[in-house]
Amino acid sequence: MTEFAEKIVNKAVSLNFEKCGIIGVDAMKGYGEKLANRIERFPETEKMLRNFAHFADPRQKFPWAKSVVICSWRVGVYRIPYNLNGLIGKHYLVDGRRNKAADAYRGNMLLEKYMTDELHMHAASAHDSGITSCRWAAMSAGIGSIRKNNFFYGDHGSYYALSAFLIDQDLEYIHTPTHKPCSDSCNLCVKNCPTRSLAEPYAMCSFACVSYLTNKCYDNGAFAPLSSEIGGWIYGCDVCQDVCPHNKGEWLGDRDFPGLDELAGEISPEKVVMMDYEYLRNVISPKFWYIAPDDVWVWKRNALNAMRNGRDKRYEAAIISACSDEDGRVRAIAEDMKNGSGKNAERK
Ligand code: SF4
Ligand code: SF4
Repeated sequence: MTEFAEKIVNKAVSLNFEKCGIIGVDAMKGYGEKLANRIERFPETEKMLRNFAHFADPRQKFPWAKSVVICSWRVGVYRIPYNLNGLIGKHYLVDGRRNKAADAYRGNMLLEKYMTDELHMHAASAHDSGITSCRWAAMSAGIGSIRKNNFFYGDHGSYYALSAFLIDQDLEYIHTPTHKPCSDSCNLCVKNCPTRSLAEPYAMCSFACVSYLTNKCYDNGAFAPLSSEIGGWIYGCDVCQDVCPHNKGEWLGDRDFPGLDELAGEISPEKVVMMDYEYLRNVISPKFWYIAPDDVWVWKRNALNAMRNGRDKRYEAAIISACSDEDGRVRAIAEDMKNGSGKNAERK
């Protein structure tokens, strides 16, 4: 069995994953406690967090599962177009989970194929919807650690994507972590979180996180109270990672991510507000898939919000154009902005 574990880890490394570890599914139980603590700390998020309860016991959905293979992929190697910095979270820009042209996508597919076709295992992956908690699995397998901002850190900061696979074999390959923990005196991530979502070390209220607010919050009443704090972000947020000293110099940006430069030319707050809905559904939504095609009006809400926070004269034409947008929710926000009031923006 050790031989199988080594074969999987070596194959993953040959496919350019930085690290790979393997743990028994029982090692995921600790995630259940973490979830319970989070619910106790932020009871308002209970309903949403309960959706992840099965992550602590992958056998609920995959009764045959015995181990979790967890791999880290370094994403900080990709060049981020200048105009998208501070607008869209970097991880989303270089997300290879559904992008068939991305190396990480290919790596995921080939590793799964290797385990099924060559090692004759039953293997399952869900690179985009999740079969278990990748961060918890990665920490348990020793391929990195979780810092006070709740992000996974490997040898090169937090700029990684994680991929989990369930297999029907009892295997284990656990690394000895070498990372120093956060210093007791550092509080930079908590201090700089724009919405105070990261309320204290290791404790983040999802409903207040800019990533949640811009990707998953479609209720303008819930969005409005934190809309100023969201600043210029229209999809995701990098602040608690970018301020971290352990990330200093770790986003290398010396390689091109497929299609990113071409897309970058199409994206700015004004361009998003004036964007054709077909383009939003057919081009933007497949890449930034947390916002589904039916919900793409949210892109315009977020872009208008970034304009409101940016207070720049150059946005006027886009705001006036949005007053005749085909979606009433977008029109209401734009009209409020044009009239200098915030009332309608708070309506659902
Ligand atoms: S991603 Fe942004 S909003 Fe969310 S916890 Fe980090 S700094 Fe706060
Ligand atoms: S900013 Fe400081 S406290 Fe936060 S994760 Fe980085 S080292 Fe830890």
